[in-house]
Amino acid sequence: MAEHRKYLVAGNWKMNISSSDVGRLISEINAKIANITKVDVLVCPPFTSIQAAKDAIGSIGNISLGAQNFYPEKNGPYTGEVSAIMLRELGVSYVIIGHSERRIYFNEDDDFINRKVRFALGSSLIPILCIGETIEQRRDGKEFAIIQSQLKNGLKNITVQEVEKLTIAYEPVWAIGTGETATPKTAQEMHAFIRSFLKEMFNAETANAVKILYGGSMKSDNAEELLKEDDIDGGLIGGASLKATSFCEIIEIANLLSA
Ligand code: PEP
Repeated sequence: MAEHRKYLVAGNWKMNISSSDVGRLISEINAKIANITKVDVLVCPPFTSIQAAKDAIGSIGNISLGAQNFYPEKNGPYTGEVSAIMLRELGVSYVIIGHSERRIYFNEDDDFINRKVRFALGSSLIPILCIGETIEQRRDGKEFAIIQSQLKNGLKNITVQEVEKLTIAYEPVWAIGTGETATPKTAQEMHAFIRSFLKEMFNAETANAVKILYGGSMKSDNAEELLKEDDIDGGLIGGASLKATSFCEIIEIANLLSA
């Protein structure tokens, strides 16, 4: 197995953890990963739990904070929205952009997603750009074309220096929250495709540096096989990140694979 980029294991807590529960979950995670040094760990709580998460991580924590969304303007009349500066103020360093739930339920299209990616980069937030095909698109044999177009549009007008700072998450829509995971072979095939397209868009060195996470029903019993693949550099994890035990088992697997 070729040497991996440093693994990133990220929890997307969606609309699940309230501020009264977040401290306990983070303390449990913190305790279990005290000896983990080779993996970057990230949690993305709902907005209302970010401050409590920050307090729980404290100064000793080996956990980074991410947000699940933001609005790409500095400030202004955007009722209900939160800006990148507000997130930075709370110690947030990553933001998830283009998640299929936002594409589907909130009609976010590639242009808006690209605006968010550019704004996040300009605000010193690391975008985790999510891309993925639906089951219908895969059945029609269009998965590579869809991924290529989401990447091309999502990364429009982004410089080589900027792209090195971002993370990509391949999340086949049919695998999110369904318990159906892409096989390691299917996931690796798409990750390699993404990397080769990044090479075409930018250059080989940049393509090699960008982390590409897999997301879609990753759990402790399938993580090892997925993470062993050459182009899978970590996971974006929904359901299994809501319990310290299952989340930390995945982190432990990534740590062992890094040894
Ligand atoms: C996600 O929503 O990003 C995700 C991968 O969810 P799950 O792990 O529950 O499939």
